[in-house]
Amino acid sequence: MVTPGTFSTPQQPGKPPSDAVVLFDGSEAALAKWEADKSPAEPTRWVVKDGAMQCVPGSGYIRTKESFGDCQLHIEWAAPAKVEGNSQGRGNSGVFLMGQTEVQVLDNFDNPTYADGFAGSVYGVNPPYANALNKPGDWQVYDLIFRRPIYKDGKLLDSGRFTVMMNGVVVQDATPLEGGGGHKGRSKERPFPEKGPLKLQDHGNPVRYRNIWVRPLPPRAGDGGDMGVMSPEAATAKKMEIAKRIRDDAAKLQGHAKLRRLMESLCYEPDAAARKESEAGIAAWVAGIKQTPAGGMEAKKGEVMQMRDAVHYLVRFKFLPDALPAKAEIDQLIKDSGWEPKK
Ligand code: MG
Repeated sequence: MVTPGTFSTPQQPGKPPSDAVVLFDGSEAALAKWEADKSPAEPTRWVVKDGAMQCVPGSGYIRTKESFGDCQLHIEWAAPAKVEGNSQGRGNSGVFLMGQTEVQVLDNFDNPTYADGFAGSVYGVNPPYANALNKPGDWQVYDLIFRRPIYKDGKLLDSGRFTVMMNGVVVQDATPLEGGGGHKGRSKERPFPEKGPLKLQDHGNPVRYRNIWVRPLPPRAGDGGDMGVMSPEAATAKKMEIAKRIRDDAAKLQGHAKLRRLMESLCYEPDAAARKESEAGIAAWVAGIKQTPAGGMEAKKGEVMQMRDAVHYLVRFKFLPDALPAKAEIDQLIKDSGWEPKK
């Protein structure tokens, strides 16, 4: 369960979802989660003003103390309301995922620049689809989905990708990363580490940030091995693993609950013993239901219909034989009780 957050308004930052790692919540104390991007690390000289973390020009990039890999990132920024400079010199900063590849932060509201250096570009890699910026001084909301490049034994398996929303408008759609980025140049594909800090750029402008949170994402299927697509062998192995977990769970249960878990396990692996036990369990269940005294059937309706659906499903997808006697018996029971759906 994830309790969703709330959306920001121009006046008020929204709330992060319940499972987010909050990197900046507007408090002075949150600065402790960041450090200057120097070696050895130093406390950052960026400042907190009116609930926003502000770049102090000349103080250098900052980075999170914690490291992240594949993630969803929410970050809001605002360029100075007082417009100064042009092109790359106006409200310039940047969001560097894993400290490696930049989604550009720039006041391009009415300020052209080269295409792959635009706000919302994967810098030096791909221009944004659209310019959906608010005016300078207003808050801009970035929502990013980041997948890092994956290499194995020096071979590229997955180039990684960036999806970016600018104020709710898609500006990057699974853009391949080609390694990092680079100033007016194509960067070569290169291995990334598994994790790295989030960095924010000091490009000489007092850009402000608020409401920064990240949600690490589950690994891609077959992460590190097969371009995100499972081989048939890996998929079979995974299904067998799931089936075993369900059977282990069933072993701790009794009666109807146990039977339903065993039947569920058949969807993942046609284990002969589990199938035999399921068939015997279904037959015993039908025999039991048939003993229900007159007038007691109505109370069993939910259970019977649930079993009918489960058995039909398992037969339709050949997890149980079509000739299973219990299937016809359950159908007859439903007919006799007048529970068939009206045509
Ligand atoms: Mg920048």
